Amino acid sequence: MALLTLKDIGKIYVSEGNVAVGIRGVSLSFDRGEFVAVTGKSGSGKSTLLNVISGMDSYEEGELYIDGQSTSHYLQPDWEEYRQKYISFIFQDYNIIESFTVLQNVELALMHIEDKKQRRRRALELIDRVGLSSHVKHKGSKLSGGQKQRTVIARALAKDSPIILADEPTGNLDSATSAEIIELLREVSRDKLLIVVTHNFEQVESCATRHIRIFDGAVESDHVLSRPDVVPADRETVEPKKGTKKRSEDLKNGLTLGRSIFTSKPKLSVFLCLLTIIGTMGIFLVTSLLGEAGELFEPYYMFEPIEGRVVLTKQNGEVMSDDEISALASEYGASDVLHYDALLDTGFSQYVYVESADKHIRFDCTYGEDFGGGIVGSYPKEKGEVLLYLPISWQPHFGEDEVLIDTLSFRGMPLKVTGVKYFYDNNKQAKCLFTSDGFKMATAMYYLLQNGSLNIQLDLTDSKGRHLYTAQYYDISVSYDIEDGKIYVDDREYRNYFEYKEGVDTSGFETNVSFSSTHYNYNYHNYDSSNNYVFTKEFDNSYFTNDMPADIYTDEYSYGVQRLVISAPLLQEMAESVLKDTYRQASLFFESDREARAAAEELREKGYIAVPADTTYTPDATETILNVAMCICLLFVWLIAIVFLAFFINLCSSRTLGAFKSDMAIMRSMGIPVRVIRIGMYVRMLIALIPAYITVIAAALVIFLTPRFNEFFVFLYPWQYAMIFVGMLILTARITYKQIRKLFRQSVKRALKGGAAE
Ligand code: ADP
Ligand code: MG
Repeated sequence: MALLTLKDIGKIYVSEGNVAVGIRGVSLSFDRGEFVAVTGKSGSGKSTLLNVISGMDSYEEGELYIDGQSTSHYLQPDWEEYRQKYISFIFQDYNIIESFTVLQNVELALMHIEDKKQRRRRALELIDRVGLSSHVKHKGSKLSGGQKQRTVIARALAKDSPIILADEPTGNLDSATSAEIIELLREVSRDKLLIVVTHNFEQVESCATRHIRIFDGAVESDHVLSRPDVVPADRETVEPKKGTKKRSEDLKNGLTLGRSIFTSKPKLSVFLCLLTIIGTMGIFLVTSLLGEAGELFEPYYMFEPIEGRVVLTKQNGEVMSDDEISALASEYGASDVLHYDALLDTGFSQYVYVESADKHIRFDCTYGEDFGGGIVGSYPKEKGEVLLYLPISWQPHFGEDEVLIDTLSFRGMPLKVTGVKYFYDNNKQAKCLFTSDGFKMATAMYYLLQNGSLNIQLDLTDSKGRHLYTAQYYDISVSYDIEDGKIYVDDREYRNYFEYKEGVDTSGFETNVSFSSTHYNYNYHNYDSSNNYVFTKEFDNSYFTNDMPADIYTDEYSYGVQRLVISAPLLQEMAESVLKDTYRQASLFFESDREARAAAEELREKGYIAVPADTTYTPDATETILNVAMCICLLFVWLIAIVFLAFFINLCSSRTLGAFKSDMAIMRSMGIPVRVIRIGMYVRMLIALIPAYITVIAAALVIFLTPRFNEFFVFLYPWQYAMIFVGMLILTARITYKQIRKLFRQSVKRALKGGAAE
C-alpha cells in the first residue's frame, strides 16, 4: 500500500475574474524511502502540487489517499491534523520564525515531547545533526540563508513526519551551500518520502530515486532512476493525542509558545504592556469617577437609617414621657430606646484651621458604637468627651500616634477629643462618638442652640430690684472651667452707656440674666393610604428661666464684645429641661428592619405615628430629573471612555498584527495545532496584562498609604478592583479573539505568500 496516492487531481485558481490552471489530471503514487525530484518550467504547477499534497491548499477535482485512506471527507481541522501527522515543509524562502532563536524554532516542532528537558535535549541533538550547534541561541533574523535552511531541516526532522516536501529549497543559495543542503536532506530522509521541487535537476541527480516532469499543470514524465536505498517497514507515525490529555498538553504548549512570542519581540511586547497599562489605568480612573455617581443613586431617607430603628411620635403632638416610651418599648419588644434622638438625624460641622485655610468636616453623631481597635487615644468616658471617626485624609491634622487637635467646639460648647480612628472609604461620613450621657447632653445643646435660638436678656437692676436697663446678648460660650451654676457677663459697655446717659453710678447695681428659647419641632402627618409621611416644622416658644444673677466677667482683650460665659452643667440643665418639656419624638430600636416595620405597623394601629427609619421619600421632581440626567451623563462618559479605550487598544495592537501574520502561517504550515497557537496568543496578552495589574495595585497602594491622596481619589473596594481586572481581561481577550480570527482567516498558503505585507 502506497503511503500517498493522488488520483486525477485538478486545481484551478480563480482570481479577479481570471482562471488559471494550477494542476490538472495528476495521478501519482509515492512511498517511503523515495527521493522524488520534481522539475518543470516556472508556472507549470510544481508548487501547486506540493501545496495540494501538504493539505495547505484546496483542490477541486480528484482525490488524495494517505495510507490508503480517502481524504474526501476532510474538513479544515482534519487537514490541520493531517499536516501535523504527516507533513514537513521546506520552503525556498525558509519560513523560519525570524524573531525566534534556532533552538526555539526547533523546539516549536518538538511539542509532542512533553518533558521539557527531553525536548531540549532532542532539539540540541537535531541542531547538532544539521551542523548548527554554534548558533543555537542566534535569532532567525541573524542567520545566513544556508543556516536558515538547516534550521528548517532540523525542524522538519524534529517533527519526524513521514513526508518531507521541499519547494526549491536551494533556490536562494549558492551552489556549494546548495549541495550541502541537498546532501543533508538525503541523509536525514532515508526512511521518509522526500519530494523536492527544483529547477536545477543536476543538483539532485545523484541522490534522487525518481524524476517527475511537470508541464502545463500535468505530469509529463515519471522516471524511476534507482531503487530507493532503504525501504523500511511501515513505522508507527507519531499519533496526535486525543481527548483531555491532548487538551492539557495543548495548554502547556500554548503557555510555552505564548512566553516565546512575548519575549521574542521585546519592542512589541513593551508597546503592548504600555497599552494595557494605559487601558487599565483608564478604567481605574473612570471607575473612580463612577464611584461618585453612586451617591446620586442613594435613596433619600427621612431618618438616619439605623438598622431596626422606628421613629415615634404622637398624633396630637403631645410630649411623651420617659415612662410612656419605656412602656411602649417593653410592650413591643424593642431592644433599646432613645428618647431624645434629634442628633441622630443631623450632623454638625466643624471648621479646622489647617494649612492657612479653614477646612470643614461634617460629623454624624452617634453613641455606644464600637469602632474596634486601631484607635489613636481612647474611647470617651465622660459627657464632654468624644471619639472621632475620620477619613484617613485627616490624619496629618488629627495625628497619627497621638491626638493633635483635642478640642472641638460644638456650638460654643467644648468637646474633648479623647481618641481618633481613621477609615479609608471616603464615601463614608465622618462620625463623632459620644457616651450615652454625652449624646443626651449634646442633643439638648443642639436642640437649644442650633435647632432654634437661645435668647438671652440682661437686666441692670438697682438695689431695690428695679430693672433699669435691658440688653440682648448673643455671644455665648460654654465652659467647664468656671464654677458650676455660674454665669459671667462682660457688662462694662452697657454700664458705661447707662452711666453716661443717666449720670448714675451703677457700682451698686446687679446684672441679671434670663433665658428663653425659640425652637422648632417636626410635626408628622400620616397619610394612612400608604406609608407616606409628610413632616412640617413648627415653632415653639418657651420662656424657661427667671432672672439669674450674673457675675462680672472681665478680660481686657474682650472689651466691647458682648459676651456671656455659662458653666456647662447649668446650660445643660436648662437645655434638658427644654427637651423634657417640648420634645415630641423618640426612637425605638428593634433587632432588624423587618421587626421594626412590623412593630411600626402595630404602633400605628394604636394611634401613634411610627415611621421605620428605612422609609424613604421621593425628592421633588426637579431634583429627580437633575439626578437622573447627571447619572445618564456620567454613564455616558464612562461608556465612551471604555469604548474609546477598547478602540484605542484594538487599533494600536492591530497595527502590530502584521508582524505575526507570517509567524502564525509558518506555525500552521508546520502543523502546530491552531489551538496551541491560539492559546499562545492569549497567553501573550495575559503576560502583557501583568505590568498593568501591578501598576494599578501600586497606584492603589500609594493612594492607600498616602493619607492626603485619599481625599482626591474615590475609595474603591477590593471587589471593584477585581471588576477592573476582570473588565480589562475581557477587553483584551476580546481584542485577542478578533486578532486571531483575522490571522486565521486566510488559508495557510495565502498567509505565507502574502506574508507581513497583507
Ligand atoms: P510553479 O511552482 O511551477 O512555478 P505554480 O504552481 O506556482 O507554478 O503555479 C501554477 C499556475 O497557477 C501558474 O499559472 C500560476 O500563475 C497559477 N497560480 C499559482 N498560485 C496562484 C494564485 N494564488 N492565484 C492565481 N493563480 C495562481
Ligand atoms: Mg513554484
